[in-house]
Amino acid sequence: MSLSLRKTIQGQGFHTTGFLNQPPTVLRTAVNGIKAQYERKGHGLEEAINKILDEYPRLQQEYKRPGSRSDRLYQSGVIHPPNNDTACAEVCGNDPSQLVSRPERTKEEDNLAIHYGLIASANQLMKNALIRDSLAAEKNVITEGITGKEVLCFEMEAAGLMNHFPCLVIRGICDYSDSHKNKEWQGYAAMTAAAYAKDLLRRIPPNKVEAKKRITKIISGSNAYNQTYKNAMERITAQDANGERLAKKGLWWITCAKRPLITVELQYAIAIKPGKSEFDEKSQPNIEDIVSVCAGLVTVDEKSKIIRLVHYTTQQYFNRTRDIWFPKAETDITTICVTYLS
Ligand SMILES: [Zn+2]
Repeated sequence: MSLSLRKTIQGQGFHTTGFLNQPPTVLRTAVNGIKAQYERKGHGLEEAINKILDEYPRLQQEYKRPGSRSDRLYQSGVIHPPNNDTACAEVCGNDPSQLVSRPERTKEEDNLAIHYGLIASANQLMKNALIRDSLAAEKNVITEGITGKEVLCFEMEAAGLMNHFPCLVIRGICDYSDSHKNKEWQGYAAMTAAAYAKDLLRRIPPNKVEAKKRITKIISGSNAYNQTYKNAMERITAQDANGERLAKKGLWWITCAKRPLITVELQYAIAIKPGKSEFDEKSQPNIEDIVSVCAGLVTVDEKSKIIRLVHYTTQQYFNRTRDIWFPKAETDITTICVTYLS
């Protein structure tokens, strides 16, 4: 889940058209927390789902877990008859030589498995087992310098959304991305993803959600962007004085810098006190704190350690409104640079 590729299938196969930034720290922290918790205690998602289905029996028809006999993974060469909606049980059968046999999950394993990693987002349905296999076998998907991530599943919806705001994609897997694709497991998969998402959200302190909420409302058009950034800045200025000061320093350094800053550079720059010749190591702010007080406007690329604005329109917004939000930025930066050199 830490990255996503956007892929396009077009006759010949796939090519990468872009990738999603790191999900925001607040979500990554929550994911790490939940991972550790599940490792120790198991996840309890099935119990949570069953409880809901018991409570609301009308949901059972669509969302209950189908029998495991309907979970068939066919060999990649076995193709479902085209344009035939008849169930696999009837047309493709249960011949073990046509199926990939997989051991049942044991009692010690959770019956629902959670995978973390790369989701390939396509602009059409992935229904080809051979393309699926070749992509899954590409151990070194190379995209903008990020290598070594394997594609774990395919989906369609996120591609249109994920480059517009910081997010984390959670999908329930309901088929094998092959020609046998059917809807049988869809309801249960959706329920499972929702149960995980709910558990994850429970781990996020409400004040952190508050600071980020409207970023996800970014749609298109500069008015929508303007309003979104204005709201974010209002949330930043509504924080306590320390938070506001730190956020504004971070934002004006990132906005005014002539080249991308890496995290230590920013920490260092913020810690320099104008006019003081001694540098206090301890006054360097924590990067997580900077990201957090900036209300979703900045993000850190884990690999390159570059800290940057979340979207190119954020830079445009600050170029237009710099004088309002950071009227003293240029002079402050000059003073700090002089201090640093002296
Ligand atoms: Zn079939």
